[in-house]
Amino acid sequence: MSYKLCTEKDFEAMIGIVGKEFATNNKAITAGYLAKAIMGLESQIPDIVVRPKYVEEIRKILIYCSAEKIAVSPISGGLSGGFACPTIRPGGVVLDLGRMKRIIEIDEDNRFCVIEPGVTNGELWAYMHKNHPDWAPPIPDGAPPAATVMGDAIDRGFSLYTSSVGPQGDNFMCGEIVFPNGDVVRTGSWALPFAKPFYKYGLGPDMWSFLMGSQGSFGVITKAAVKIYPHPKHKTVVVWGMSNPYDMQDLTLEVGKKEFGISHHTVMVQGGNYQLVMTRWPKDKVPHDYEFYEGMGISPWWMNWEIWAQEESELNHVIETIDKQAEDFKKRAKDPDALKKQELHPKQIASRMKKPNKIAIPYSFWEAGFLFITWYTPWNECAHFCDMYTKAAEKHGLPPTIWVASIERCRQAICMPIIGFDSTKQSDFERVQDLNRETTEYALKQGWLNYRPDPYIHIQAYYQAGMYWKYLRAFKKLVDPNMIMHPGRLALP
Ligand SMILES: Cc1cc2nc3c(=O)[nH]c(=O)nc-3n(C[C@H](O)[C@H](O)[C@H](O)COP(=O)(O)OP(=O)(O)OC[C@H]3O[C@@H](n4cnc5c(N)ncnc54)[C@H](O)[C@@H]3O)c2cc1C
Repeated sequence: MSYKLCTEKDFEAMIGIVGKEFATNNKAITAGYLAKAIMGLESQIPDIVVRPKYVEEIRKILIYCSAEKIAVSPISGGLSGGFACPTIRPGGVVLDLGRMKRIIEIDEDNRFCVIEPGVTNGELWAYMHKNHPDWAPPIPDGAPPAATVMGDAIDRGFSLYTSSVGPQGDNFMCGEIVFPNGDVVRTGSWALPFAKPFYKYGLGPDMWSFLMGSQGSFGVITKAAVKIYPHPKHKTVVVWGMSNPYDMQDLTLEVGKKEFGISHHTVMVQGGNYQLVMTRWPKDKVPHDYEFYEGMGISPWWMNWEIWAQEESELNHVIETIDKQAEDFKKRAKDPDALKKQELHPKQIASRMKKPNKIAIPYSFWEAGFLFITWYTPWNECAHFCDMYTKAAEKHGLPPTIWVASIERCRQAICMPIIGFDSTKQSDFERVQDLNRETTEYALKQGWLNYRPDPYIHIQAYYQAGMYWKYLRAFKKLVDPNMIMHPGRLALP
């Protein structure tokens, strides 16, 4: 499959659609998009950046690029770490949707809001805080405030209450999509012109779910209705520390299975190892030995339960139940003596409660480069994953930093090794890719799934799931006949 290098005539055509102010081929600006590509090691510079505002502009751009065989990569916030950048050369057109910023509707009774792709986490959070303070939108817990809710859903990420309500994709009800064949399609109940976006499965079968995880490779989503949830006043974080990932996994599962009345209140259940603290600081400025962190009262592994409740009595009941469960779990733990409650300073709790938080951004301090390699496993296999990955990272001379969170009350785990490396060294890139390749081969054999497949390494998953991939290709052919959308993503040309 080959794509056309954009010419001056193509640039003029883009200006004709969006106006001179909103299309550029200025090298300083096009290269600037690559600066966000901290996690997409294979990202390329686009030839043209176009910033449309209206659905009809997007339709015209896609029809033009399809006819001319120019690659198109859509970006909402562009902060998925380079996964929105082109993966091939020529890079073609980047469609920056950052000007589509309307928060169109908030419906407190049906509990949804309708947003455009450029609405950032920070903007939606601030808007709701000011105008609908009793409601919280599904912003991703650790993603930067300038990333978007839409980008996170398309990536199938996780929100600030994922541990209670499920993956981010589940929070999306209905969408409006422009396909390169020129069609504008509305999904779910929105398929009927006068229906509210109240029912995701609409006329059925559900087409919207096909776009979750699509990474911009089918079409451009221009509107979506997302669920909102109550934002109660009574909140806190409970933490238990332990010496190993198996005790972390098993205790958390016991709490997770207490669904009604307990784990429905635990909105974010996340843990990991002590390296999570260490690798958020410049490498040469902090001690690397565990003894230092032990002295600060940090356990080798731990689990946080962030709890939201309508009443204080309800909050206290959930805290007491978790603590009682942890005490009881000592009878079954691998290392009962290491199981300890960690008391947090009120400032630590307050900083956890602040949303959108900026907790993940400092990983770039360690050695400038970082890569989140995220996998989904059944919850009761996450300790096996942690064990395997920490050993593999150490073998490759990389810090074995692991973050784990529960999705939907421990039905699944999101396991995220955070690989800190020196992005200025070619040899470091190779070490990271070797680790990634080796662990991917192992993980696929266990039946684990990659969150955001990169076009070279995790893509093996699609080759192994050949029949599924055949239908992905068929759907793409239908909506994107010239295969212009984000070539390389999902192993599609
Ligand atoms: C420091 C840091 C912390 C993070 N923490 C979290 C976290 O806590 N939870 C989490 O889930 N994720 C997290 N992420 C991952 C990522 O930032 C989020 O998924 C984020 O919300 C992506 O949003 P975005 O608008 O920047 O997406 P983008 O980068 O714009 O896009 C993401 C993908 O979707 C495609 N796309 C974007 N918009 C459209 C559209 N309108 N139509 C079709 N395709 C589109 C893009 O091509 C790309 O493949 C983190 C990332 C970083 C860098």
